[in-house]
Amino acid sequence: MFQIGCHVSIADHIAKSFERARSVGAEVFQIFTQNQRQWKAVRYSSEQSDEFRSVRQALGFIDKPLVSHASYLINLCAWEDEKLQRSRTAFIQELKRCDQLGLNYLVIHPGSYGENDETWGMETIADSLNHCLDEYVPRVKILLETTAGQGTNLGYKLDQLRYILTLVTHPQHFGICVDTCHVFAAGYDLASTQGWRDFLAQADDFFGLDHIPVWHLNDSLHPLGSRKDRHAPIGEGYLGADTFKRIVREARLQEAAGILEIPGGMEKFAENIAALKKWRIGD
Ligand SMILES: [Zn+2]
Ligand SMILES: [Zn+2]
Repeated sequence: MFQIGCHVSIADHIAKSFERARSVGAEVFQIFTQNQRQWKAVRYSSEQSDEFRSVRQALGFIDKPLVSHASYLINLCAWEDEKLQRSRTAFIQELKRCDQLGLNYLVIHPGSYGENDETWGMETIADSLNHCLDEYVPRVKILLETTAGQGTNLGYKLDQLRYILTLVTHPQHFGICVDTCHVFAAGYDLASTQGWRDFLAQADDFFGLDHIPVWHLNDSLHPLGSRKDRHAPIGEGYLGADTFKRIVREARLQEAAGILEIPGGMEKFAENIAALKKWRIGD
């Protein structure tokens, strides 16, 4: 069954994320392991990570995939060397935090090439990933996220993600996270039956659908191909409710987890999660 959840806050205390997830009916969830707009690395004590694990057990999330979203500050193809080094260091720290907490997946936007070009960007991202994994071998699986292609963001074509993955020296540590709003904004027409079929066929051909364990389920405020990254609640954007029915009912995605990252707060999460659960098969 397609598992449904959302992004939740870790405010006050990271172990509170479980209660927040449960309060909106989330079966799986995503967190930032620290303030995503701050460079300074947070370290959790062993008491804190033990508590996180025991609350996970107590609230029934032990077998559910938990996801971290990497900081927006990290740019694995930053064109200024100082920023690139800082990004790599922060990424290694993020991998270690995920492992300490026992998280299953770490989602990261590939990077923005800025003043250089796409090929340089993709090769630098692969260099960064290789460098980081030479330094630290993580247990958490790293998922490169599809992007809307705003500015010089890479990852708005599946070909780009595939190219990066052909260059990594530890491919078994990687997978893909598809964001429905982003791929639609990037020009993949998930709102049509044929567009969805074509997208799924290409994603399967390039990566294998079992290497896409996490889907960000967001509707899109902007139309197909707009290259604009603005999320809308399910059914309130250009993708529409039918698109999400198709996704959660897709037979080949029944092992996947769907994470909502929509505006509207906890009430909207609860409402959208309930709708998606109703639409999926096997309930
Ligand atoms: Zn993201
Ligand atoms: Zn987005």
